[in-house]
Amino acid sequence: MFNVQLMQVMENIIRYLKHSENVLIASHVNPDGDAVGSLIAMGLALNALNIKTTLYNESKIPTVYCFLPSVARIVPTLDNIQNSTFEYDAAIVLDCGDIQRVGKMGSELGKSGSGFQLINIDHHITNTYFGDFHLIDISACATAEIIYRLIKKMGVPITSAIATCIYTGILTDTGSFRFSNTNKAAFEICNEMVALGVDPYNVAKHVYGRYSMGRLKLLNLALDTLEVSYNGKVSMMTITRDMFDETGTQAEDTDGLINYARRIKDVKLAVLIQECWLPDCQLPVSDYHIPVKKQQSEIKKRPGSVAKNRNFHVSLRSDGTIDVASIAANFGGGGHRTAAGFNIESSISDLKYGIFNLAKEIVN
Ligand code: AMP
Ligand code: MN
Ligand code: MN
Repeated sequence: MFNVQLMQVMENIIRYLKHSENVLIASHVNPDGDAVGSLIAMGLALNALNIKTTLYNESKIPTVYCFLPSVARIVPTLDNIQNSTFEYDAAIVLDCGDIQRVGKMGSELGKSGSGFQLINIDHHITNTYFGDFHLIDISACATAEIIYRLIKKMGVPITSAIATCIYTGILTDTGSFRFSNTNKAAFEICNEMVALGVDPYNVAKHVYGRYSMGRLKLLNLALDTLEVSYNGKVSMMTITRDMFDETGTQAEDTDGLINYARRIKDVKLAVLIQECWLPDCQLPVSDYHIPVKKQQSEIKKRPGSVAKNRNFHVSLRSDGTIDVASIAANFGGGGHRTAAGFNIESSISDLKYGIFNLAKEIVN
């Protein structure tokens, strides 16, 4: 819930934005519904105040979110930043626990003294408080909840386009009101968004009802890799590059897949390992670009392992009894208490061995 201090931060941000002419808004690589929805909602709201905006996301926007209004305004590159003619008054970074989550442009934006204010708006428990303004509310169900409050406070009317973006952000980040971050605000805001013109069936149809055949085939292959250990308390699924190739799918097609592993009765920790690789395949390149961050923990290798290293994204989910955000943070990643992730270079066999060993120590 918003406290007095956050209200103050919000007022300071609004005051600053109202004096800005040109604002850059960015969200995290391999965006989810919250990252895309919050990005567009914020952009449309600032436009209503006659502020020029550039909406930036390094990755391809997943097909399921391409129905969102003004989605075509999101650009994957920023030429002006590279030519060091950065003309923005402010850069707003949304749904990113740390600045590197923006991707290649992260370090550029994170540089201090670049002549613009960096505004960090997020709900991840691992947020590093980068930037000049920190509107961080870990009790918010989604960044879209914070954006909703900001837009209200700015006095901008919520159009049906803005409402659709906010609704989609909350719907997807709460797993359709099923995850532990589902709060009273999720229902209240979504109720209001529907009153303002959102068609819930239309959103659900686009987000959950138009999967490609390849995506279902990938699900089939992934389910085949499902393993359960430690008295049924740890579940793990693996997706390799071969599986993406065989089914003609991409990283966006794994969204939500880990929930099959988390749903199993008695499972406390669910893990999804997916391989990332280089640009030709147009795959989780963005994750690949992120330099592997300083790790406090090492994955324990299998004794005598000589397997070749590859790049992986690891997703972690817990039933609430294990803090996966701190596990992910130890490997240079981050997230929430019950949903987190990190990127790592390893061999698949060492990674599986290492994670199962780690789990043995945590799960009891
Ligand atoms: P995922 O497992 O990718 O679905 O992500 C679960 C949660 O962890 C999301 O809230 C992500 O924003 C966060 N997360 C995933 N990967 C990383 C990462 N490499 N660094 C920081 N946070 C991450
Ligand atoms: Mn997100
Ligand atoms: Mn989010």
